[in-house]
This record gives sequence, C-alpha cells and structure tokens, in this order.
Amino acid sequence: MIDRLPEDFPHGGEPRLAEEIDLIVIHTIGGPMCRNGEVFFTPASGSAVFWRDWFLDQPDRSIHYVIGRAGDIAQQRPELRTAGHVSFGGVMQRVNQRSVGIELVNRGDGIEPFPPAQIAATKALAAVLAGRYGLGPEAVVTHAALDTRMQADCGGQPLRRNLDPGPLFPLDEVRAAMAREEAR
Ligand SMILES: [Zn+2]
Repeated sequence: MIDRLPEDFPHGGEPRLAEEIDLIVIHTIGGPMCRNGEVFFTPASGSAVFWRDWFLDQPDRSIHYVIGRAGDIAQQRPELRTAGHVSFGGVMQRVNQRSVGIELVNRGDGIEPFPPAQIAATKALAAVLAGRYGLGPEAVVTHAALDTRMQADCGGQPLRRNLDPGPLFPLDEVRAAMAREEAR
C-alpha cells in the first residue's frame, strides 16, 4: 500500500519515457554533517509520509519514493517524471534522468540498523520496478557508490559527502529479490 499524492497534484520534474529508466538509487534521509569540528547525524525520525511532505517543501531536492522504518511507503514523484536526488559531475552523467530514487528513513550513520519491515518493503518495491522496466539486479546502486566526492574537512578529518545507505544496507539481498522478478 503506497501513499500517493492526488492524480492532479502539480508534480515537478520533467516527463520521461519508461525506456529511459535503468537505475534505482538508494539513499537514506540522514547523512554526515560537520558541526563544531565533529561529524554529526540527525535522528531522522518520522514516517515515510512525514519525509515525503518534507521533500515537497525542498526547492532543489526531490525523490520518487520514501520508505519508513515500519515498511510504510510514500510516493513524492511519479516514476515517469524526473526527480533531483543525485548531484555530481562525475563519470555517470544524467543519473536523475534515468533513475528512480528511493529514500530510506534512517540516520544514515552506518550504525542504525534497517528494520526487517523496511527491507521487505524495499525488496518488494525494487522487484516491482524490475518487472516494470526490465531491470536486472545490477540496476540497484547506492548513492555512496555513485558520488564519492568529499566535503570540507571536519575537525581535520576528511569526510565523504555521501555515505548512504551505508554498510548495514543489504544490497545483495535487494538485488537477489530483483533477480527473481526478472526471471519470472
Ligand atoms: Zn543520498
């Protein structure tokens, strides 16, 4: 059960074709920040709907789906419209044009576990997308793998801009769920 915005909601982004979609990018709501020389993560509390509504107020950030800790899913942007969830000038261009972005509600600190209900919902959604767009397991990528840039040093230590979703995210498990869908 996905919480969707009304059909006539004034969605942003640009229209795109189903054939353009070949990536799913996994994020977490939380990410590393530097405060007074120390790395800091916000609690990122709240449901999928709470964070979807938060994204609606962001002028320069958007996402297709948010998945809460309880496995609740909210959609911000239709899949056939682009969202702005990756920004970098690296080798892989036009990521936002070709990807579906999924935010997991999590601190993003590499310490908070992803509850089973949240992972189950992620696998189910990824499998649906795999079937819909003919995506193989390798189509699921992490934000950290795509964007390896650093931010300014924090207390003299180098700090990545993006670590999400972090080492506790079961990427192989999600990819395996997609492989089963692809084989059907
Ligand atoms: Zn991210």
